Amino acid sequence: MTTPRIVVLGAGYAGMMTTKRLTQQFAPEEAEITLVNKHNYHYQTTWLHEVAAGTIDVNRSRIMITDVINPRRVNIVHDSVVKIHPDDKQVELSNSMLEYDYLVIGLGFEKATFGIQGMEEHAFSIQSVDKSRMIRDHIEYQFSRYKTEENPSDDLLTIIVGGAGFTGIEFVGELAERIPQLCKKYDIPRNRVKIINIEAAETVLPGFDEELIAYAVHSLTDRGIDIRTKTMIKEVKKDAVIVGEEKEEIKAGTIVWTGGVQANRIVGESGFELTKGKVNVDSTLRAPNYDNVFILGDCAWVMNKETGRPYPPTAQIAIQEADVCAHNIRTLVFGGTLREFKFDNKGTVASLGGSEAMGTIFDGHKLYGLQAKMMKNVIDDRYLFMLGGPSLVLKKGKFRPF
Ligand code: FAD
Repeated sequence: MTTPRIVVLGAGYAGMMTTKRLTQQFAPEEAEITLVNKHNYHYQTTWLHEVAAGTIDVNRSRIMITDVINPRRVNIVHDSVVKIHPDDKQVELSNSMLEYDYLVIGLGFEKATFGIQGMEEHAFSIQSVDKSRMIRDHIEYQFSRYKTEENPSDDLLTIIVGGAGFTGIEFVGELAERIPQLCKKYDIPRNRVKIINIEAAETVLPGFDEELIAYAVHSLTDRGIDIRTKTMIKEVKKDAVIVGEEKEEIKAGTIVWTGGVQANRIVGESGFELTKGKVNVDSTLRAPNYDNVFILGDCAWVMNKETGRPYPPTAQIAIQEADVCAHNIRTLVFGGTLREFKFDNKGTVASLGGSEAMGTIFDGHKLYGLQAKMMKNVIDDRYLFMLGGPSLVLKKGKFRPF
């Protein structure tokens, strides 16, 4: 038997954990494992709202891949995936071609704009370290402009965040902490700055428990966030958004869209069939028509058989999928029974900035404030532990509740 070539695309939660698990599932001589990523680092996507707001440093969210994956075990390729050719079992990179026997796609998400005019061109998205850093710098640039331009408009200081799902709410929570610091730095009264969170649904955080939603809304509005639900963004311009049937125009210096994600477009462009922007994989996480291709994380649409609805795109799910994927690749190579993916919900906690947070753990037990924030840190540190052991927790972990 020739040594199987396993290629993992993307060093996000799904890709990193799959690679880690594959090195545990296979002895070095049993498989040739390759990990391809755009950057030489892995980043904590779940911390990007903090990078975007400027409440944590960019480097805090980055982990060098070679710090946690042994380059003597895994062939680490620092390059961008351009296209996948599943019929030829090949991956086209910017600088070379790769051949595989088994492929794992973990290329993550990109913003879904639902065809809203101007959204693609004029709205920022919290999507990568570089894009998040650009948001942080842009907000500060607008503060700087405000201080240097003659007769500046207060609109420069308005920040509009489209979407009040998990990412939108976590981001405005961080802004509530960051903006007072910027106001101090630039000698600007806090009441000149508006942070407006616009959501088309009836409530923020659709699908969350009502008490948790009420807690989040109270905490955020108390700290100066203007939340507007039942408000549809119709169009985005360079310096404004148009909302509602009356086409009200709200001027802003910064516009950030968090209202939707879809699979990395490379997946659709490579010919995989999409359902609402993602690939509807089977219960063993394999792509339709390609038994040797696994699609994980935000690129995949995995049905929850109990509810008949797909699982939401979360890091928690991406990490759990990695275990099943690595086991199933070993099974395809050596035989045995394929495992079906079943989500083990350990709870969801949303940070609301500073020492504020809320969410549920395990059996739906609700947590608020400092207790929830501590739990959020435990969740983050647990992932770091799984990835890089105690040394990574000590290097990058979160210990303080703010
Ligand atoms: P990602 O983690 O996004 O990784 C994709 C990887 O692919 C990246 O490393 C990227 O550089 C690489 N890549 C992309 N394109 C290419 C290319 N062309 N070539 C090579 N490499 C490429 N989930 C939770 O469970 N809990 C939370 O608290 C939570 N908070 C969140 C907060 C924010 C601000 C955001 C944005 C998301 C949050 N999520 C949370 C959702 C979670 O981050 C995603 O579901 C998760 O990142 C999906 O993991 P993934 O491995 O599919 O993709």
